[in-house]
Amino acid sequence: MPKIKVKTPIVEMDGDEMTRVIWARIKDQLILPHLDVDLKYFDLSVTNRDQTDDKVTVDAANACLEYGVGVKCATITPNEDRVKEFSLKKQWASPNGTIRSIMDGTVFRKPITLSNIPPRVRSWKKPIVVARHAFGDIYRDQEIVISGDGKVELVYTPDGGEPQRLLVNAFKGTGGVAMGMFNTDKSITSFARAVFTYALGEKLNIWFNTKDTISKKYHTRFREIFQEEADARKGDLDKAGVTYSYYLIDDAVAQVLKSEGGHLWACMNYDGDVMSDMVAEGFGSLGLMTSVLVSPDGKYEYEAAHGTVTRHFRRHQRGEETSTNSVASIFAWTGAIARRGQLDDTPAVVEFAQRVERAVIDTIEGGLMTGDLVRLSTTPNPKQANTFEFLDAVAARLN
Ligand code: NAP
Ligand code: MG
Repeated sequence: MPKIKVKTPIVEMDGDEMTRVIWARIKDQLILPHLDVDLKYFDLSVTNRDQTDDKVTVDAANACLEYGVGVKCATITPNEDRVKEFSLKKQWASPNGTIRSIMDGTVFRKPITLSNIPPRVRSWKKPIVVARHAFGDIYRDQEIVISGDGKVELVYTPDGGEPQRLLVNAFKGTGGVAMGMFNTDKSITSFARAVFTYALGEKLNIWFNTKDTISKKYHTRFREIFQEEADARKGDLDKAGVTYSYYLIDDAVAQVLKSEGGHLWACMNYDGDVMSDMVAEGFGSLGLMTSVLVSPDGKYEYEAAHGTVTRHFRRHQRGEETSTNSVASIFAWTGAIARRGQLDDTPAVVEFAQRVERAVIDTIEGGLMTGDLVRLSTTPNPKQANTFEFLDAVAARLN
């Protein structure tokens, strides 16, 4: 069989620990035997980031912007322990944070659903994709503890103008806390654009929610910008049969639990932080959650939502058997390959990605799966595969 040609290069970002071990296997067993693809390789292992003073992360993000599609392995975000473990020059920033800010992207998290791994929420039949705005609000706030009496004010001083002051609270004999937070029209607009672009690409109805009944200026600004985007893209939405709905956040939360799923749930930063974990757990396992970063002008970076699975890697290093789920990492590859095929207008490439996904799904639905899924499966007597047996079984099915 001749290999299927991928027209445009794909950016590949290698990573750390157990996911790095899995990564190489996926490439060698599932991808390269079948695809003729030019991979622009960047080694984002923590040691190489250290050696390059993190330049490799910046280069990789820029390559994603240049080529349009990238796929990333999970990476260590160093803390103090990691600095010691690898004798790092410093606690480098989170690579995902760096890539997100260079691509000005929005993160979409999507669960992989399988017939024998039932969601914990019984009404959910189709994946719910959560889009989280990843800039501002409480994540960039200023906070203060008030121990004595006095006024807390919000002051805006326009360049060259007179300050405007709003009284937040006059504390008297109570003490307390206060904070100031912000967002920008530019970032909210980017977020809205990315949401509409993704929903149109995937043909998913859009839900957006805030608490604008209470927050009449701050949350209302988000609602207005989303509405402007919906109005601007009305033609595209109608053509694709995709709808835009606005809810109050508390209404949306209740609706989500009653829904069948199958929609894109766009959330402000804090809501998305909380709700994406609820949705991930509601669907079953972190090993079944993929993530894609989308820039406002339609550049894509795919990855698994989980980390480097350090606990399993320690066992692997000691020569012990592991049963690490590779599904989200495989789907990161197939997501990137399918998107590349779609952008290049090469249906054979898209179809290949679908065949790999089918092989994964058929393997698990056939009763062979890693330990995390065995615990959730409705298959009578499921067979537990170790990390490599699972990949071998998928490769055999694909061949
Ligand atoms: P983690 O790697 O997601 O693993 C946490 C636990 O979740 C694992 O110990 C395992 O539980 C379970 N798990 C996660 N993925 C699994 C899979 N594919 N198959 C089976 N079980 C899975 O999170 P962490 O241990 O908090 O973080 C480890 C490292 O990853 C850290 O250095 C962190 O900085 C990094 N990280 C990177 C990313 C990213 O690159 N996107 C995201 C998060 C964390 P059991 O041990 O109970 O089996
Ligand atoms: Mg969270």
